[in-house]
Amino acid sequence: MADAQPVLSLYDEPFWAAMAEGRLELQSCASCARFRYPPAPVCPDCLSMDYAWTPVSGRGEILSWVIFHRQYFDDFPPPYNAIAVRLEEGPILVSNLMGIMPVGNWIGEPVQLTCRQHEGRRQHAFEWAGAGAEGA
Ligand SMILES: [Zn+2]
Repeated sequence: MADAQPVLSLYDEPFWAAMAEGRLELQSCASCARFRYPPAPVCPDCLSMDYAWTPVSGRGEILSWVIFHRQYFDDFPPPYNAIAVRLEEGPILVSNLMGIMPVGNWIGEPVQLTCRQHEGRRQHAFEWAGAGAEGA
């Protein structure tokens, strides 16, 4: 299914349009400025229906991670990882850690947004931004 492209809804299209240009933009409430992800029609804090797509810093920390040593999909040869990242703006994204990996426990490690190409589309990924990340 390498040719399969996601069907983009009202709330997906702005996200992927920004990602195609290398920016991570999330929905933020026009009334209280809270970021929300996944996108939704109403702010869960103030119930405003007004929002804007707003760039985020790309900085966050790892909340959880897993390394897969078994192949489930052709596009993801093992070993590969999946991480849950809490952005400094608050939302949590599930993504992948690229490049140098932290040693030991990844929870709480700082990460920085990067991009990778997958199935002809630019997607978000993260790089470790902790001490020693630049050294190797
Ligand atoms: Zn709000």
